[in-house]
Amino acid sequence: MMRQEPVIAIKNLNHYYGRGALKRQILFDINLEIYAGEIVIMTGPSGSGKTTLLSLIGGLRSVQEGSLKFLSEELLGASQNQLVQVRRKIGYIFQAHNLLGFLTARQNVQMAVELNDAVAQSEAIAKSEAMLTAVGLQERINYYPDNLSGGQKQRIAIARALVNHPPLVLADEPTAALDKQSGRDVVEIMQRLAKDQGTSILLVTHDNRILDIADRIVEMEDGLLARDSQSVVSHYDSGVRNQNS
Ligand code: ADP
Ligand code: MG
Repeated sequence: MMRQEPVIAIKNLNHYYGRGALKRQILFDINLEIYAGEIVIMTGPSGSGKTTLLSLIGGLRSVQEGSLKFLSEELLGASQNQLVQVRRKIGYIFQAHNLLGFLTARQNVQMAVELNDAVAQSEAIAKSEAMLTAVGLQERINYYPDNLSGGQKQRIAIARALVNHPPLVLADEPTAALDKQSGRDVVEIMQRLAKDQGTSILLVTHDNRILDIADRIVEMEDGLLARDSQSVVSHYDSGVRNQNS
């Protein structure tokens, strides 16, 4: 069977911060492909370059060296305008939920819809309410973030990230501020919605308890991709089955 084009294709990617004598290499020869509908978890110690890599993939930072293709489009040398177009096709979920406190749950999600399309307001409202229902917040649609728990706020952030059915969701430690059960709930909702929509997810986490939702696990170490479970898929699969049985 022919595999389709990857959503993300990274080849020989290097990245540096600082300039002149202060220039420091942060990412070293990264190679990574992510396919449609795949859930990839990235682990690795603090400072190993995970957020930097996510920001490059998300078009939030310019690619300096190597090749990074998003839906076959090369981001090396891309204009700011091209990067804006890329960002519109990606859902972002951060450790802090980044909701706007003066907007209700529905308005926070609705804003993402209205930023994207020339949709009628009534349709934007309907889409937002449907997505909040999908994350289990149908009773909280008109609540302000301050009156919701951490897990509920993160579920709004998921609804906001997925409401436009993006081909890719980037999540940077989305469960870090949550207790064990809320963290688990949040990633299971992400997993279910992503599988329903055919969305790929790249999720950075330190949380060992959620590794089993991944189709693949990659590990960053000192700016290198030290491990990609793609090459040992059968081994990993059997490990997951044992964990769940
Ligand atoms: P992680 O997300 O794995 O903790 P980061 O990508 O945030 O790693 O950081 C990787 C390295 O780059 C760290 O040494 C960090 O201090 C450094 N770094 C991160 N952001 C910047 C920046 N904007 N300018 C300079 N150095 C940075
Ligand atoms: Mg980070």
